[in-house]
Amino acid sequence: MNQNQHSDQPSAASLTRRTFIAGGSVGLATTALGSIAAAQQQGRPASDPGQNNLPLLSENPSSNEPPPSDRGDTGPIWYSFNLTHRREEDGGWTRQVTQRELPTSTEIAGVNMRLAAGSFRELHWHTAGEWAMMLYGNARISMLNPDGTVFLDDVSRGDLWFFPAGYPHSIQGLGPDGCEFLLVFDRGDFSEEKTFLLSDWVSHTPPDVIQKNLDLTPQAIALLPKHQRFIFSAATPGPLGPDKASVGGFPALSAASFSFRMLEMEPTFSQTGGNVRIVDSHNFPPSVTIAAALVTLHPGAMRELHWHPTGSEWQFYLSGKGRMTVFVSPGEARTMDFNANDVGFVPTMAGHYIENTGDTDLVFLEILRANRFVDFSLNNWMRHLPPEMVAAHLNISAESIQRIPAEKRVIIA
Ligand code: MN
Ligand code: MN
Repeated sequence: MNQNQHSDQPSAASLTRRTFIAGGSVGLATTALGSIAAAQQQGRPASDPGQNNLPLLSENPSSNEPPPSDRGDTGPIWYSFNLTHRREEDGGWTRQVTQRELPTSTEIAGVNMRLAAGSFRELHWHTAGEWAMMLYGNARISMLNPDGTVFLDDVSRGDLWFFPAGYPHSIQGLGPDGCEFLLVFDRGDFSEEKTFLLSDWVSHTPPDVIQKNLDLTPQAIALLPKHQRFIFSAATPGPLGPDKASVGGFPALSAASFSFRMLEMEPTFSQTGGNVRIVDSHNFPPSVTIAAALVTLHPGAMRELHWHPTGSEWQFYLSGKGRMTVFVSPGEARTMDFNANDVGFVPTMAGHYIENTGDTDLVFLEILRANRFVDFSLNNWMRHLPPEMVAAHLNISAESIQRIPAEKRVIIA
């Protein structure tokens, strides 16, 4: 709880969940009489004597025993990559959380993929723009521009890339142990199963057309793939320099970079409670449809109450334990807990906070389908209005209003 918080009245956070539930004059009076059982009966929800999935309950206490301020149906705000089907291939695997798992996430879908050293995510393109963050290991990426120049780069943990919709590209795991990464697509209905694959195309084109177009010998055509490869193992490539030289060196290489070293940048905001790195088209020009914030919250710290005017927010949790409440008009709110490899979702424009409820740093991505990362801070709003206006709305004194942080803090320690 923020030590600066002033209390004209007891705040919800200053009361335990149970006393809040049992609150009100009747509940407090009976408690004062020492009748704990009576208090429990007056305000407590009924017990839960039937079946429970205990591991799920322990992962998500806020959903099982919601704060009394929760109400109604906001739509789903949680999913986990660990609940999805993992498509296993020779040399890697992939799994996805899309609009099919989170029906209200129409703007963004995500994929989590692993490639062993040398393994390819085959040359392909798709209908959505692709933003990525490396989670582990090393990879080599390639992407062709419409002018025929090619982008080649090696990426490591914390690096990003962005490939525009329709631009053909590949990903290959490097030594010593390949890679794992998160892909974020700017369409909720995207499916990893429905991309345009090189092998799929040549295997669904008449051989005489392939021969005419590629000028291959019949012997070569006989060796072409007969079905899609998608992910397949291959030899680990050599250094990047010779690969760049092999495509023709400088004149053949993309003038623009489509990768970004996110962990090497200075935090955009750095506070006692943590830090935030914002990467969008202002510092990573190719990323015109995805804006991202990598947020680190120290134990007890909170990403302040805010919302985004650009639409919905898709989150990926990298480490730690967190809690989020999403407020959706009118009067509906849902609180859930989040762990590493979980996906969080905030419906369009909905108000929310994210609090570190664990004893280690909470690290997560806030992803927007937007050109720029923009948010509105509740505190900032309250402090840029005539105090009488705020006082009339919230029933608090002018003194209390002065205690609200005047500037957007982003993170509250
Ligand atoms: Mn792709
Ligand atoms: Mn947000």
